[in-house]
Amino acid sequence: MPWLRIDDGMWRNRKLLDVSPVGKALWTWCLGYSADQLTDGVLTRADMRQITAAVGIDDWQTPMRELVDAGLVEVDGDAWLIHDYLDYNPSREQVLKERDAAAARLVCLRENYPNETLDSRRRRKAARRARKAAAPVVEPIRRAMVVERDASTCYLCGKVLTDAEITLDHVIPLARGGNHTEANLRVACRPCNSRKGVRTEGLA
Ligand SMILES: [Zn+2]
Repeated sequence: MPWLRIDDGMWRNRKLLDVSPVGKALWTWCLGYSADQLTDGVLTRADMRQITAAVGIDDWQTPMRELVDAGLVEVDGDAWLIHDYLDYNPSREQVLKERDAAAARLVCLRENYPNETLDSRRRRKAARRARKAAAPVVEPIRRAMVVERDASTCYLCGKVLTDAEITLDHVIPLARGGNHTEANLRVACRPCNSRKGVRTEGLA
């Protein structure tokens, strides 16, 4: 379930406003379907059958033509492409990579905290949240972007890491007033990350 991102200016987007209500519904459902089914914004005829059944319309060619005319959807051979889809939403590849990494993190978590109970996990998480909340700047972190920026390389030992080995380290630790931002995060291997603790060595 990757969340779908839609520009919040959509409600006053001229291109979209000129489309009929059915067209607006179709556009929204196309976006949701694409994000859920990881189609990278591409919709085949078979996809369109599912989408239009869900929207509850028989004639979808007419509103689809509207969307194409408005530049919200592009014709791509025998399929359709939602305009700028990947500018706002992660690709199938990114989502699958992120899911693999999340599964691997869960395995690491079980290894690192074998005796953790639901209660102690809640306390550990709450402490972490409190540290984050106290950070001067807190931004949503796009892990995949940080990993790509740092070329999956540990900034402390220089080792190129597999997805399962990657952790993100606050260069200036949260406990030292560091920001919870992508700019203050670096890819680090687990040994380096836990060795560094709350020190600030390796600051570039
Ligand atoms: Zn390292």
